[in-house]
Amino acid sequence: MIRKNIALVAHDNKKKELIEWSKQHRDSMENFDIYATGTTGRLLEQELKLPIRMLHSGPLGGDQQIGSLISEGKIDALVFFWDPMEPLPHDQDIKALLRIATVWNIPIACNRSTADLLFSTPVLLRDYERLKPDFSEYENRKL
Ligand code: PGA
Repeated sequence: MIRKNIALVAHDNKKKELIEWSKQHRDSMENFDIYATGTTGRLLEQELKLPIRMLHSGPLGGDQQIGSLISEGKIDALVFFWDPMEPLPHDQDIKALLRIATVWNIPIACNRSTADLLFSTPVLLRDYERLKPDFSEYENRKL
């Protein structure tokens, strides 16, 4: 069975919720390789005692590292608890990450209930083969 990779990111006011959620799903989490932005990752490592592939902190490029891994086909699901109560500063970062995950047809959970649904059948998530979009025509287009 090929291990799948999940990426976890939470904005500061959402970190507590992500930690609670991840503890609730700790058993399932063991089946995945977990990538996370720096601060989120350190908290997850402390709480779950699982290895986390730590990226930079979000504002230092961690979000973009996840975006890059997504575009390389290395992330199979994204749990991104962004903070809808925080005004504008994060908007561009949120949009960029959601955009690239949408482009590459990655399952995205932005709140706890969607993340619960995603993990309610971890076997499904493990066995699920998402349709990988073929952008060769786009990349070879002549302008
Ligand atoms: P952090 O990054 O996990 O390093 O806090 C998350 C973010 O703000 O995008």
